Amino acid sequence: MNLSHLPPLRETLAEQGLMAKKSFGQHFLLDLNVTGKIVRLAPSLAGHVVIEVGPGPGGLTRALIDSDAAHVIAVEKDARFLPLLNELAVAAQGRLSVIEGDALEVDEAALIAAHAPGLPGQIISNLPYNVGTPLLIKWLTGPYRPAAMTLMFQKEVAQRIAAPAGADAYGRLSVISQAIAEARIVMNLPARAFTPPPKVDSAVAQLVPRPDAPGEKIVAALEKVTAAAFGQRRKMLRSSLKLLGGDALCAAAGIDANARAETIPVSGFIALAQALLSR
Ligand code: SAM
Repeated sequence: MNLSHLPPLRETLAEQGLMAKKSFGQHFLLDLNVTGKIVRLAPSLAGHVVIEVGPGPGGLTRALIDSDAAHVIAVEKDARFLPLLNELAVAAQGRLSVIEGDALEVDEAALIAAHAPGLPGQIISNLPYNVGTPLLIKWLTGPYRPAAMTLMFQKEVAQRIAAPAGADAYGRLSVISQAIAEARIVMNLPARAFTPPPKVDSAVAQLVPRPDAPGEKIVAALEKVTAAAFGQRRKMLRSSLKLLGGDALCAAAGIDANARAETIPVSGFIALAQALLSR
């Protein structure tokens, strides 16, 4: 669907006197070449509904409407953008549902059931940085599991998500993300690409949940083990995991108790979580 008849985003923002609010983590992408590129990084959108968190003025939303996605559900917390987004929904001729709400609170499955029943979902978003990590954890461990996520984070957070064992950025977020999904960085973007520019650069991480992802109980145990192990990342596991079983836990998982958290691959943490569950 071609939306080239719509006025440029910068003009629309100026006309409506819409200024970015820091409290909402607002850093806009106004260049439709960039938003189009982000959407093209996602796995095939045909037959999918896309949930976009924080459409703001709608730059990424326009690119999503322009894509093969069957439907787009955009969840925005800042009510100032709703008139603009509702105009976009009219232009999208039924392919865009605009929801005023907090993405941390919404029930994604219920939204899909109401607006695009039966369709598999993906999440694509230029995330508000202040709630990026809790949102990712919600989608990785909560009841609603999207088929894929293509998400803009602060670069440092994206690096933590995708870091391999042994890297400086490797930590809890890496283990939880990679235990549940294939995770990689697919695009880097400098701060100057945003209006207003944030203090740091950004990157898009792509996460595709694994069909054989560990179940709820293992994930809960994984959260406990990684919190303890990386809470004292310079200590040997026998000491950092002491309260969870220390030496005995490591032995049951086949992990060297003298090793430090940062050297243990994701599979090692899953073994520790399984050992914790069977204690
Ligand atoms: N998608 C737009 C773009 O790329 O130009 C805006 C991205 S801006 C980084 C983040 C957006 O998320 C803002 O529009 C902000 O109002 C919205 N937002 C912040 N917290 C939110 C929340 N908890 N739930 C839904 N939207 C939120």
